[in-house]
Amino acid sequence: MSQNYQTSILFGENSVSQAVSLLQKGECVALPTETVYGLAADASDIIAVNKIFEAKGRPKNHPLIVHIPDVSHLENWAKSIPNTAYNLAKQFWPGPLSLLLKKADHVPYEVTGGLDTIALRVPAHPLFLEVLTQLNVGLAAPSANRYKQLSPTIAEQVMQGLDGRIAAVLDGGSCEHGLESTILDLVSETPRILRSGPITQQQLETAMGQIINTPKNHIEVVPGNVEAHYQPNTPLRIMSSKQLLIEIDRLKHTDCHFVVWSDAVIQQSKKTHAPSSQCSYLGNDAANYGRKLYVTLYQVDQTRPTQIIVEQPPQSDAWAAVNDRLSRAAQ
Ligand code: AMP
Ligand code: MG
Repeated sequence: MSQNYQTSILFGENSVSQAVSLLQKGECVALPTETVYGLAADASDIIAVNKIFEAKGRPKNHPLIVHIPDVSHLENWAKSIPNTAYNLAKQFWPGPLSLLLKKADHVPYEVTGGLDTIALRVPAHPLFLEVLTQLNVGLAAPSANRYKQLSPTIAEQVMQGLDGRIAAVLDGGSCEHGLESTILDLVSETPRILRSGPITQQQLETAMGQIINTPKNHIEVVPGNVEAHYQPNTPLRIMSSKQLLIEIDRLKHTDCHFVVWSDAVIQQSKKTHAPSSQCSYLGNDAANYGRKLYVTLYQVDQTRPTQIIVEQPPQSDAWAAVNDRLSRAAQ
């Protein structure tokens, strides 16, 4: 049923107004955000929201993040909002921080996966903000990929997964962060990070002047928390730098691909004459690495290697989001 669309790629003049008009008609449109591309629909229109689940093949009990034009819309979606939410909004919105709050009574359970909480954020991408401002509504927008697959960071990758299943994609180039937003739960007694992302635990603790938890497992069964998620089609393994060097030497000239962050490993791999086409070097800056990770995995996947072996990144706060996505990709 959702296969019947002639999906348009909207670009340049009039593209925003075309996206707005499709969303007003209750269609799903993939929009660029500063994190990854989102599959947007009017969050107050249950039929439109259901189209998101259908297009993605996403289980109905997986909640959606609602994107709002500015902080003044918080009260339209949430109730019993703590002051911390406003303080954080002031510091991080528009930006890659989703706040989990108690949902307002009228918010349909279709949006929240049956939960009494709702995740809200103001995205920073100028095109998404323009669409939101023109519509003046909330847009539910999970990542614009098929369920369990990699999140797209360019319009072409949205098309790979959703061509024929959605009305349109608004092409806004490549996404600034390349990893999904940080989700902070402000409903639990001690704030906790439900999903690591571009805004780090340290940044949040500094902003809030209090300790935050990052639990390994959550009671809620939500997509970012199932073990297998954000996966390329190729099996992926993670190894220490030392192990990786041994494997590069052993498996060079095979159909295996290596993803490397450290300078030492890439230099050493050159010395062992491993073909450069077999190694993707993403560098030792966590933000840069995060920006390139999904796009690299998409590209590597298309060359159909037998496996992808990734050098274990450092275990510090700055790398938390990258490590979280890699460990799920490796399941
Ligand atoms: P996606 O945008 O596809 O990455 O998925 C939305 C993410 O938001 C999921 O991974 C959930 O972890 C999270 N989320 C959204 N709403 C809620 C909620 N009410 N409770 C817990 N997690 C939520
Ligand atoms: Mg997703």
